[in-house]
Amino acid sequence: MGARRFVLCLLAGLLFALPSPAGRHDTQAPGWFRYAVGDFTVTALQDGVINLPPGGFKGIPAEQIQALSERAFSYSAKGVPTSVNAYLVDTGAHRILVDAGNADCYGWKLGGLAANLKASGYTPDNIDIVVLTHLHGDHVCGLVEGGKKLFPKAVVWADAKETAYWLDAQNKATPAGARTAVALYGKDFRTFKPGDAIAPGMTIVPTPGHTPGHTAFRFESKGAVLLMFGDIVHNPFVQFAYPEVSVMSDFDRAQAIATRQALFAKAAAENTAVAGSHVAFPGIGRLRKDGTGYVFVPVEFTPQP
Ligand SMILES: [Zn+2]
Repeated sequence: MGARRFVLCLLAGLLFALPSPAGRHDTQAPGWFRYAVGDFTVTALQDGVINLPPGGFKGIPAEQIQALSERAFSYSAKGVPTSVNAYLVDTGAHRILVDAGNADCYGWKLGGLAANLKASGYTPDNIDIVVLTHLHGDHVCGLVEGGKKLFPKAVVWADAKETAYWLDAQNKATPAGARTAVALYGKDFRTFKPGDAIAPGMTIVPTPGHTPGHTAFRFESKGAVLLMFGDIVHNPFVQFAYPEVSVMSDFDRAQAIATRQALFAKAAAENTAVAGSHVAFPGIGRLRKDGTGYVFVPVEFTPQP
């Protein structure tokens, strides 16, 4: 071995033997992901990850649900790690946030959405419209940070039937954080009905079952489509293959299953890209029919959206 080669080998060996540099970031990369829909720029934003118990799903035996999650290496004693995602759609004319994350409702400390939004190059001031798929805490509580509106310039929209159900003073299941958010936004919290138009390029798609007025939002630009389907799926390793599996928190199980079946069939037949609030981040992909169920094919990372 020549002296030069020896020095190179020695250097290479040293490199592998050295401890990690002092400046190494020991946190994960920020949770945002860019995706193009025609002229619209979509930014997936992760609020955090929660663990859902496999026993919280019904429709096939609990052991089979656990086995499916284990087959996907997505099960721990704590449950099935489940992402909480929100999506920002920049249409040029508007910056529309679909859902606002959990913040600290239900005893879960998430609230990564605000930091990830900033890391992606936006500020909360940039958001002029927020649309909510439904009023569960993990979609609405993130509207508030430190007792104040997180999106001071936004008008927040939710389905009228959904809002009436959750804001009913008798409803004991309504998270306090949801009531606080709606009260804080005051006249800037508004309701829509199926068929209403809120912003060009966005269509309201009623998808009831998980909650009374659960809504998906379809974005279309230059022939490209992305359907944000909210809580149609809670366990991606089970419910794509077995759409007949429902989650404990479904308001109307039979309706939720029928809605999921219909949405999957249409999205697969039309090759529509979908985005799910609880599908592994960034939660965007397409559906392929496979036997009696579906396979979810996630988008891949690319440097250009
Ligand atoms: Zn949810």
